[in-house]
Amino acid sequence: MKLFRFDEGRIGVQLGHDSYDITDTLGLDVQMWPPVQMVQVIRRFSESVPALLDHPKTRRIDLAAVRLQVPIAWPNKLLALPVNYVAHGAEMNSANRADLNGFFLKANSSLSGPNDAVVLPDLPGREIHHECELGIVIGKGGRNVSREDAFKHIFGYACLIDMVVRGKEERVMRKSYDTFCPVGPYIVTADEVPDYDAIGLKLSVNGEVRQQASTRDLIVDIPEMIRMASAVMTLYPGDIIATGTPAGVGPINGGDKVVIEIAKVGSMSIDVMQSEGGGHPVWDKPLN
Ligand code: MN
Repeated sequence: MKLFRFDEGRIGVQLGHDSYDITDTLGLDVQMWPPVQMVQVIRRFSESVPALLDHPKTRRIDLAAVRLQVPIAWPNKLLALPVNYVAHGAEMNSANRADLNGFFLKANSSLSGPNDAVVLPDLPGREIHHECELGIVIGKGGRNVSREDAFKHIFGYACLIDMVVRGKEERVMRKSYDTFCPVGPYIVTADEVPDYDAIGLKLSVNGEVRQQASTRDLIVDIPEMIRMASAVMTLYPGDIIATGTPAGVGPINGGDKVVIEIAKVGSMSIDVMQSEGGGHPVWDKPLN
């Protein structure tokens, strides 16, 4: 099953080749603020969604005719793993590793959708890099989750691009510009990705493949991420975990087109736009 958010905050589901609008079926308010419709669906309705498809308020839709939005607009948190593939650590010349140093947070407000452009801030002399990542969506919340129980807490997966300004400033500032976390195009439920530990990821820029890897090379694997994060903080339905990037990161510029593809999870084609804003003196000092 695939769950998606579309047009202005409507919720849809795809089963097989058929797509449905279940917004009115579930009585969801598309105007609600904060926009937590999908978090509510994951928390309250996910198991009964297939049963809703015969409901008179459920409307069949043409997925190609709607505009997909970021599936989860307002999670409780967006976690991310730093160096979590050995080859990426080597290319960054970094001794940092996720199994030694744990996870970090990106601002939730950096989330953007499959039809939104990545908007680059104007930071002369700085490179802004793409990181191709598998995103995990938490279903059942919890604290102190064991490896053995981890999969009971995973709702599904999505493509995720972790954008970052390279430099030595605080990571949360370098990674949290608006639009620095495209996620989508939908959430694929975990039952459709049984081989989560050996799925291929690929990212290309203007048709040139830059990153290609498999989740089998993760340093901290998916059950361990759930254990690690939940040792510290309560996980909530709709939380997102960016699982870390493989080697091949590199700069992107205005006008580029970035395509991320993950086997069984989907693909997104993201435009890159250069803005004139986003500068601050903190970025003006020499890089070293
Ligand atoms: Mn990353």
